[in-house]
Amino acid sequence: MKSEVFDLLVIGAGPAGSFAAEHLARAGKRVALFDGRPPREAKACGGGVTTKALKAWPHLLKAAGRSIEQVEMYSPNGRRIHLQLAEPFAIYSRRHFDSYLRRRAQEAGAQVFAGRVSVQNEKATGGVWTVKGKNGERWSGRVLVAADGANSHVAKRLAGALPPSEMEVAFGYRAPLPKDERDAVTVIAFLPHWSGYAWAFPRLDHLSFGIATTQNNFDHKSLDALLWSFMTSYYTAGDGRIELSWTEKEQDGMSERRAEVEAKLRLSVERYAARIPGLSVETWEKRRAAGKDWALLGDAAGFADPVTGEGIYYALRSAELFAEAYLRGDVSSYEKSWRADFGDELRRAAKMRDRFYGTFLGAPFTERMIQFAHCHRGIRNVLGELIAGEQGYIDLKSKLARRAFLPL
Ligand SMILES: Cc1cc2nc3c(=O)[nH]c(=O)nc-3n(C[C@H](O)[C@H](O)[C@H](O)COP(=O)(O)OP(=O)(O)OC[C@H]3O[C@@H](n4cnc5c(N)ncnc54)[C@H](O)[C@@H]3O)c2cc1C
Repeated sequence: MKSEVFDLLVIGAGPAGSFAAEHLARAGKRVALFDGRPPREAKACGGGVTTKALKAWPHLLKAAGRSIEQVEMYSPNGRRIHLQLAEPFAIYSRRHFDSYLRRRAQEAGAQVFAGRVSVQNEKATGGVWTVKGKNGERWSGRVLVAADGANSHVAKRLAGALPPSEMEVAFGYRAPLPKDERDAVTVIAFLPHWSGYAWAFPRLDHLSFGIATTQNNFDHKSLDALLWSFMTSYYTAGDGRIELSWTEKEQDGMSERRAEVEAKLRLSVERYAARIPGLSVETWEKRRAAGKDWALLGDAAGFADPVTGEGIYYALRSAELFAEAYLRGDVSSYEKSWRADFGDELRRAAKMRDRFYGTFLGAPFTERMIQFAHCHRGIRNVLGELIAGEQGYIDLKSKLARRAFLPL
């Protein structure tokens, strides 16, 4: 056992863990930050970071990423709308983004240890936490911070396991950028017959394609076929206009050109898959993220938007709120501060999820939203603000209704 007792042991150096470690180390605290991800392996993620996050922490723009000002959005029936965003958001490769944040934590004075660790069942005398590495090394600290992601073992122990129905599923492929940079468009396409959406997010040196959906009725084969249809449509689009043909009939009769594209792509893509927490309203109400000497951050706490799966903003914000609570000498007050800051918003999103992917006036709500956005500039603006992370769910309905009456 190392004799040093750290002020904090932070498990997981994703955005949440690194950001918390940086804040605390900068304030002079002795922080041990552990991460088990092999150096060249990236976290499965779209890597989209909202305008809201970029405004809150402008230094994020120093990480190597792509700034996005325009998005093509598709309805479940393939209806397209072009959105010119008032302010850009960014898309990062998670390898770049995570190493940028980890480096900042290290430069601030946090000690970073590579390798997976587990928490010892019993606290040592003196009430300190102990974590153990694969080779039997041990570290101890007064406060334990779980930032170990959606499958957090520490969170299971401290706050209880989440039921499988409260996990979204996301999978996709890293693929080459189109030859012509102008064809590297950013796309969000709502799925036909399933909750969720597909995306094409161009990064600096590759594209991230993916689908995020609920665990209920998850049928990997059909969803994978849908994603391949989306991907081949993407590469064969003219002028960035994708002809989405993901009805079964059209998938069977895939054109020669698209079959050729698919055959080539299959040789170069890299598959990824992971889970995203999507908590129910009841769980938001009762699950705790802090005690007197422990805290859960980011995905480990379940802090992702149940409608979109967006979690990076909440990972960073929860890290910041936890660091503030720790520095005022009251770790457990973090529970109150995350609830006051973004708790209502995420709880509201959990309530809205079924309606957002449900039907409205005889069609999917997302179909109607895009249909109405064609006719109303106000609704187009709300969609842009949703993507930017600037439009919450609490006043979404009233804003859509109000903006619908703006002139075209
Ligand atoms: C496919 C997919 C696409 C997504 N797209 C987006 C998007 O575009 N925008 C967005 O905002 N969000 C997106 N999300 C959600 C986002 O990825 C997460 O919300 C975010 O990464 C949470 O950050 P975190 O730091 O809490 O956890 P993570 O980023 O998961 O980091 C946890 C870290 O802990 C480490 N770890 C785990 N266990 C241990 C252990 N025992 N010991 C040591 N280290 C450990 C892991 O290696 C990992 O590095 C997506 C998620 C998925 C799955």
